[in-house]
Amino acid sequence: MEAVQYKCPNCGGELKFKPDTQNFGCEYCFSEFTEQEVREINARNEENQDTSVNNANQAEQNEFNEHTNVYHCGSCGAEIISDENTSATFCYYCHEPVILSGRLSGEYRPKKVIGFQINRERAETIFKDWCWKKWFVPKNFKTTSQLEKMTGLYVPFWLADCDIKASYNAIGKKIRTWSSGNYRYTETKEYSIIRKADIKINKIPADGASKIEDALMEAIEPFRYDEAKDFSMSYLSGFYADKYDVSKAQIFPRIRQRAEKGCQSVISDSVIGYSSVIRTSENYNIINTDWEYALLPVWFMTYMHNGKTYSFALNGQTGKIAGTPPFDRLKCGIFCGITALVVTLITMLGGYFLW
Ligand SMILES: [Zn+2]
Ligand SMILES: [Zn+2]
Repeated sequence: MEAVQYKCPNCGGELKFKPDTQNFGCEYCFSEFTEQEVREINARNEENQDTSVNNANQAEQNEFNEHTNVYHCGSCGAEIISDENTSATFCYYCHEPVILSGRLSGEYRPKKVIGFQINRERAETIFKDWCWKKWFVPKNFKTTSQLEKMTGLYVPFWLADCDIKASYNAIGKKIRTWSSGNYRYTETKEYSIIRKADIKINKIPADGASKIEDALMEAIEPFRYDEAKDFSMSYLSGFYADKYDVSKAQIFPRIRQRAEKGCQSVISDSVIGYSSVIRTSENYNIINTDWEYALLPVWFMTYMHNGKTYSFALNGQTGKIAGTPPFDRLKCGIFCGITALVVTLITMLGGYFLW
């Protein structure tokens, strides 16, 4: 009998039979499927196979690789993509000079893109307003030369559409109390709550750039994905892009976590009217994931202060900004000094008033 090799419907890795659970598991993204699920998915994928589509993709891929330049940062290892007419001089991660290292090879052409809607001028204004409220940041943090380091960067994102089989069991209690004569009655009714659902969650985002903190990218969400367009080279003009260095399988645990959260909120919205609910079991199994590789617009900036790098990001579509500003100890020291002085003065004044 010929051995059939099943592919993981979530990340494309090879599935292996697991004797302990009698299921098929993926070693790369840790998904697990029953035999029936694997057969169904396999049959569906065979139907969808179309070689002409693959050839067209390859042509587009080659075109993308031929018209982009890759710059390499010898200091931190970053690889910066630009269109062939936009040259990069410094690394937006570590501010060191970068050198042209040639053309891309591999599959990095994005399928979708959201173009920048916030221009540089607007981004700088938002950033300055945001800094203005933060008194303790060092002086040179807000200077023009620092603002020049702000880079219009297309960050690579994986957007996942997940099909999830959800099952949820809980015990719900409804408690009613009333009085009659000298007696007080409490009635407790227990319900077994069962939910089984097929849930589809679309466009779960996770950035594929390992050099950018996940939390920073999550902080500038959401993007309006309905405005995403098919990618064309013209979007890159004047901007830079990162290529992904985190694979679908590596990112899948993050997607799974967010998908589970989404399911939990859908299900808990349907469990209402109980005095208390105790979950006894819940299971959210992602049985298929459709991926889209997209570039999303971010104004990105790093700042080095006392040997530490601080990163800032501004959503290039909505203007939402995030980052932790550096802290100037000296300024804080002066501020604390002044506060102490004012407090002393007030106390003294208080003393005078008493007197
Ligand atoms: Zn997998
Ligand atoms: Zn660098």
